[in-house]
Amino acid sequence: MAPLFCVLVAHSSCSKGTAAQNNTTDLTSTVKEQDVTASGTLTVSRENTSGANGKEGSSKLVDNITTTKFLTYSFDAASYMQLSFPKEQVVAAYTLTSGDDAQERDPRDWKITASNDGTNWVQLDAREYEAFGFRTQTKRFNFKNTKGYKHYRLNVSGVSQNRTGANVLFQLGEWRLLEVPEKEQTLTPASATVETIKEGKYTLTYVDRNTDVLPSVKAGLIDAFKKNYGKSVDTYNPNALTSITFIMDPDYKGVAATYGGGVVRYDPAYFKANPLDLDVATHEMMHIVQAYSGGAPGWVTEGLADYERNRIGLSNATAKWSLPNYQAGQNYTDAYRITARFFVWLEIRNPGLMVKLNTAARTNTYNNGAFWQSETGKNVDQLWSDYTQNPIL
Ligand SMILES: [Zn+2]
Repeated sequence: MAPLFCVLVAHSSCSKGTAAQNNTTDLTSTVKEQDVTASGTLTVSRENTSGANGKEGSSKLVDNITTTKFLTYSFDAASYMQLSFPKEQVVAAYTLTSGDDAQERDPRDWKITASNDGTNWVQLDAREYEAFGFRTQTKRFNFKNTKGYKHYRLNVSGVSQNRTGANVLFQLGEWRLLEVPEKEQTLTPASATVETIKEGKYTLTYVDRNTDVLPSVKAGLIDAFKKNYGKSVDTYNPNALTSITFIMDPDYKGVAATYGGGVVRYDPAYFKANPLDLDVATHEMMHIVQAYSGGAPGWVTEGLADYERNRIGLSNATAKWSLPNYQAGQNYTDAYRITARFFVWLEIRNPGLMVKLNTAARTNTYNNGAFWQSETGKNVDQLWSDYTQNPIL
C-alpha cells in the first residue's frame, strides 16, 4: 500500500492527499519516529516587538538552534504558538528547550492542543509546575495520540514562579514536534501532584514536584497554613492574598523562599533532613502577608518573620527552634532570630509596635531614623543599647 508508506515516511513526495483519504487508524502506522517541525508553518498570537525574524522573534522557536530563543514582553496566559502542516501529522511527543538566561521566564504550565479545522481543538497534553533545571535544557514530553491533525498549538498559561502581568517576560529556546509510531508511544508522567486545600476564605495549592519527603512534612506544612495564615493576615494585613501556593521543589536549594504571587518554594532535601522544622511555613507565610516592595531593610523583614514564627508557631519546641538569648557581639541588624528576640523585647514594652512596624514597612513609610524615634522616643541604636543592658523578656 504505497500511499500509506508515503504519507508516513516521505511527506514531501506525496501527491495524492493520502492523509485525507486514509482513516486515522492508518495514520498511526508511522514506522519511524521523526521530527516534523520543519514541515510546519509557525504562527504566534503574540510576536516579539522586533518581528518574527528579529533577534528574539518567533522564527527562533523552530530554527533548530537551541541557543537562540523566542521572547515576548507582557506575558499573556492566553497566548499561543501554532504549527500548521499541509498534511495531517500524528504527533505524540514534543520537546521544549529553555532559554539561555533568566529562568523566571521559562514556561511552567502549558497545554498542547490539536485541530484539523483551526476552530475545534482537542487537548493532547497538559503540564503543570514544570521546571527546567538549567539553561538551554531540552526536555521531552510524550503522550499518546493516534489521530492525525494539521494544526498543533502550544499554549503557555504560566511562567516560572507564578508571576503574571505587564512586567513578566516569556521565553523559549525551541519547540519541536515529533511523530511517534503507535507501538513506541509512551506517556511522560506528570511532574507534580497538585492538591487544593481550603481553609475559610483562604486557599492553598500544595504542589509536590515528585519528591519523596515524608507525608508528615506535607501534613505539617498544610497544618501551618490552616492554623496560621489567617492569623498573620488578620494581625498584619487584611488585604493579603487569599490564595497561596507551596511548592516542594527539587530545583530549589536552600530551606524555603517566598516569591511574588504568594508562592513559597521548599527544598525537599532540607525537609528530609529536618522533617520537624515545619514552622518554616509560618515564617514564609509572614513574608506573603508582609508583601513589602522594598520598604524595609532585610533585618526588619526577616526579624519580623521570625518574630511571627515565635509568636504563633505550632511546633517550634518539637523542632528545637527558639530565640537565642542575648550574647555580646550581636546586633539588631543580624536579622532572623536575633532581631526577632529584640522585637519581642520591644513589643513587651511597647504593645502594638510590631504591627506598626509592619505597616510602615509595607506602606513604604518606614525610616530607620524616624520610625523608632516617633514610636518610642528613642532611636533604634538607643533601643538596642537598652536591650543589651537588660535583655530579660
Ligand atoms: Zn525569610
